[in-house]
Amino acid sequence: MSERSEPGSRAPQSRSARRRVGAHTPTSGGLAKAALPYVDAAGAEVVQVYVSNSRGWALPAGDPAQDALFRDGCGERGVPVFIHASLLVNLGSPTPATVERSAQTLAHALRRGRAIGAEGVVFHAGSAVDAGYAEAAMRQVREALLPLLDEAAASGGPMLLVEPSAGGGRSLASRVEHLGPYLDAVDRHPMMGVCFDTCHAWAAGHDLAVEGGMTATLDALVAAVGADRLKLVHANDSKDLCGSTRDRHENIGKGTIGEPAFAELMRHPATAGIPVVVETPTEKHVGHAADIATLTRLHP
Ligand SMILES: [Zn+2]
Repeated sequence: MSERSEPGSRAPQSRSARRRVGAHTPTSGGLAKAALPYVDAAGAEVVQVYVSNSRGWALPAGDPAQDALFRDGCGERGVPVFIHASLLVNLGSPTPATVERSAQTLAHALRRGRAIGAEGVVFHAGSAVDAGYAEAAMRQVREALLPLLDEAAASGGPMLLVEPSAGGGRSLASRVEHLGPYLDAVDRHPMMGVCFDTCHAWAAGHDLAVEGGMTATLDALVAAVGADRLKLVHANDSKDLCGSTRDRHENIGKGTIGEPAFAELMRHPATAGIPVVVETPTEKHVGHAADIATLTRLHP
């Protein structure tokens, strides 16, 4: 899709639909036992969890009793669930073992997602690492993702959500425009969605802090992927400058992006009804509770 979307073209109730705001939630000690009290303490209306070590390849089976308690607890609270796949996942790697482990990690996250009632599994777009490997990397992305997406479709979900990276290191997608070719690589599969991370976009050079900057970036995202692909937002302020390619998150309004940009985020028609998750620094739940409150206050 190359035409620009017009923010005014959506139905008014869609434009004003509430954005649920929640947090990336710790699970050590047991999925339900750790995460549900955290969700309540932080005031989270959406929850995102890891289902394996964020910096490891081990794929734990999960505890069926905790899975059921967590799924039911989130259901009772009306809290949608998302999984963030291991940060090691890189389908564009020139190292075959990394590509294979990445695909296995996503397959595991999708299985775990079905067990806990997740709506989406977020993974980073990845990197070709070496100059000249980009074309082969995108072929790998296609070959790895299509069977997973077909299986997700056959089993009723969850969706896979690609998250653009902070840029640098031959990223396969960092700027929002890169999402168009990334989705094309999987034939715009219906189970493929997008997760937009404000800190990554800022690091990749989108000037979100200038007035209208967040709005323009979200318009460009919709132009690249269409009106219905954005399924999750990661709202994170940044400790670094625009274009730095550094990914150090800061609390909302306390960083270089600043609160007015997040007001634009929360009012943009593309985020209407889309869950928003913070992945910001926090002492226990306190930092997350404050960021959730700030973003909720910025609702139109
Ligand atoms: Zn993120």
